Amino acid sequence: MSLNTSSFLNQESHQKSKRNFECLKNSQQTTLLQDNPLQNLQLASWEVLEKAQKSGRSKCPRCGSSRMFYCYSCYVPVETVPTKEIPVVKLPLKIDIIKHPNETDGKSTAVHAKLLASEDVTIYTYPCIPEYEGKKHEIALVFPGPNSVLVKDITLHLQKNVEKVSCDDNDDSSAEPLLKKAKIETKEDRKLGECKLNIRSEDTVLKKVIFIDSTWNQTNKIITDERLQGMLQIELKTRKTCFWRHQKGKPDTYLSTIEAIYYFFVDYHQEILKESYKGQYDNLLFFFSFMYTLIKNAKNSSGKE
Ligand SMILES: [Zn+2]
Repeated sequence: MSLNTSSFLNQESHQKSKRNFECLKNSQQTTLLQDNPLQNLQLASWEVLEKAQKSGRSKCPRCGSSRMFYCYSCYVPVETVPTKEIPVVKLPLKIDIIKHPNETDGKSTAVHAKLLASEDVTIYTYPCIPEYEGKKHEIALVFPGPNSVLVKDITLHLQKNVEKVSCDDNDDSSAEPLLKKAKIETKEDRKLGECKLNIRSEDTVLKKVIFIDSTWNQTNKIITDERLQGMLQIELKTRKTCFWRHQKGKPDTYLSTIEAIYYFFVDYHQEILKESYKGQYDNLLFFFSFMYTLIKNAKNSSGKE
């Protein structure tokens, strides 16, 4: 899952990247693009980020802190990155991101989602999370647990959640007339039959997805919170991370938060909305792929990789 390990561009590496980015622009562009697995994305122009990178850190318009590209505390771009010059991504579902309080804000890619799809994304800091009770038939949590399902199976499994909710609701004396009619049915058959009466097709539509933004160990603490129990868990198809702060000792299939969000929507678009994917959500990786390229170039130039 989402995972952050060290801070992006401290002053020293910032200077290094800045120099290397200049190199990239002059001569290495073609070579570097070949190594970049994010190269086929349809992204808005990076010009605004390139300019900001050249001029160095800038002020957050809200809190006044000095930051590169955006303020990770206020979720807004800095003064040298005008909001109108960064892309807006429209998502087909709302997202809640639950952030572990120990997670260092500056290391998290969750803020990218808020910056690029601000209308559809809300970030919460654990343990302050919304009340999901009564909505578990229309919400899913992206987490690869023992009972998690693939995106293509979401609708089927949400339906089961509705049946469960309906059955729980009906566990009272009002169910008695039905019980008398159904003497030859087994108890299980009867219960299922009653529950099906209560299913409406709009109940089984996914309306919100929850992502957890924390290191792997912290994620387990959040996932066991009683408020998140009984919620459908979704696992993504296997993909390799491009995150430069990938956690040591973890498989390269542990995605950063923004990668998980991006890949979720690519699958959702094709497998649930049944539409062909034409790069609609690629700009979710607008900052991520720019930073990835900066870091990769810096590493290449310093001979580390
Ligand atoms: Zn700020």
